[in-house]
Amino acid sequence: MHSKLLSDLGSQQIEGEIIDPRHDLYDRARCVWNGTADRRPAVIVQALSVADVEKVVATAADHASLLAVRGGGHSLPGLSTCDGGVVLDLSRMNAVKIDRAALRAEAQGGALLGDLDKATVPFGLVVPAGVISHTGVAGLTLGGGMGWLSRRFGLTIDSLIAADIVTADAKARHVSSEDEPDLFWAIRGGGGNFGVVTNFVFRTHELRSVLIGNWAYPVSAAASVLTHYRKLVASVPRELSSGFIFTSAGLQITAIWSGAAAGAEAAVAPFGRLGSPDEGSMGELSFLDLQTRFDEDLPWLRRYYTKGGFLNEIGDGAIERMVGGIDRAPSPAAEYYVIQLGGAVADFDDDATPYTGRSAGHFWIAQAGWDRPEDDAGFVEWTRTAATHLSEISMRGNYVNEQADFGKEIALSAYGRSKYDRLAHLKARYDPENLFRLNQNIEPRP
Ligand SMILES: Cc1cc2nc3c(=O)[nH]c(=O)nc-3n(C[C@H](O)[C@H](O)[C@H](O)COP(=O)(O)OP(=O)(O)OC[C@H]3O[C@@H](n4cnc5c(N)ncnc54)[C@H](O)[C@@H]3O)c2cc1C
Repeated sequence: MHSKLLSDLGSQQIEGEIIDPRHDLYDRARCVWNGTADRRPAVIVQALSVADVEKVVATAADHASLLAVRGGGHSLPGLSTCDGGVVLDLSRMNAVKIDRAALRAEAQGGALLGDLDKATVPFGLVVPAGVISHTGVAGLTLGGGMGWLSRRFGLTIDSLIAADIVTADAKARHVSSEDEPDLFWAIRGGGGNFGVVTNFVFRTHELRSVLIGNWAYPVSAAASVLTHYRKLVASVPRELSSGFIFTSAGLQITAIWSGAAAGAEAAVAPFGRLGSPDEGSMGELSFLDLQTRFDEDLPWLRRYYTKGGFLNEIGDGAIERMVGGIDRAPSPAAEYYVIQLGGAVADFDDDATPYTGRSAGHFWIAQAGWDRPEDDAGFVEWTRTAATHLSEISMRGNYVNEQADFGKEIALSAYGRSKYDRLAHLKARYDPENLFRLNQNIEPRP
């Protein structure tokens, strides 16, 4: 079965590299970010062109093969790789083009956030995306895309103008609000369910630098600091974004101002007065430096487990549960990460895109990262329990991109019944055989 698949791929004059288990690069090429996703695909095709993508999609469909599509390889459950099937790896299609006059950026389907930032920032432009530069543009955008600029400029999908996508019939389509608008709606939160995006067109925004403040508070003061944090963030303008990482080593609060220099210090400094910080600093940072500042905290190939949800506010219940969770944490490698939303994210109706959670004030994750397989059970158990406790008081809906588990129930509860049904009809139209099923899967329903 695999030999026929391999020979069919081999006969198609694919420009990119075809890597099977005998290839020298196989063990490197099969790696993805999460070390727990240690899988052995039958073949990895590192595509170089849209034609390559079409050929791989057509061949996988003909063979009814399992097909994993890989952008940046950061899927938490390892959905961009598989055992025994085909991995369509877009990492070599990572070019970014800027049109300064039109304030647009185009990123190929395998670009990383860092590729996008490095291309836009020299022009004084940015696309609002995530907070770690080695994350893929594709997976992040297709799920929604939140980061330090979401409150100011919206989610990544809110800056998406158009995309080129190869659907399950191996046909390349251009989608936008004018061209195949239903499919354009579906890919703004519907994940990789609808095809392989080979190119994204984004609206860019003008931004040069930010003011960042970062303060470390002791764990013993966390409950009081977070109570003050709740009051402070309730009335900040959208140019101010904030978040925190809470571990058994301390509570790190970050505030970022992306507006005019005049208001910066007055907006950021109060985050250093939420209690008596052990240490802290405030300073101007280029956007590139901001975007790479936390990269090393989440390196490739460690073992990770993550679950998340939306909160209206950091209420007393949330604070109590997080303080209790940190009390039980196996090590400082187990954390809560919370990022403030609101602002421009809420400018769109919830139904405008499949992404759910427009009205949330915050997105939280419970997450652990560790190295030894024998520690899996302890870290996973902590994360599950921590997340269950916070989920009990979280809003309905969830963010598909930050869940280490997958399955119909997770997709259904993330999107809610009516959006899930709309997505399922579109899935039946564009991918009736569910070729693209390694994602938070929407089952096709005519
Ligand atoms: C270290 C880290 C930091 C993160 N930070 C943020 C953050 O700040 N904000 C945020 O919103 N999210 C964040 N995330 C979550 C992130 O958005 C998701 O993990 C996302 O899926 C990663 O995209 P990727 O292309 O790197 O992943 P991949 O593993 O390559 O793919 C993820 C999913 O998208 C599909 N896919 C990938 N490329 C394509 C394509 N070209 N066309 C169609 N489908 C495709 C895959 O099949 C898979 O289902 C982070 C994740 C990690 C691991």
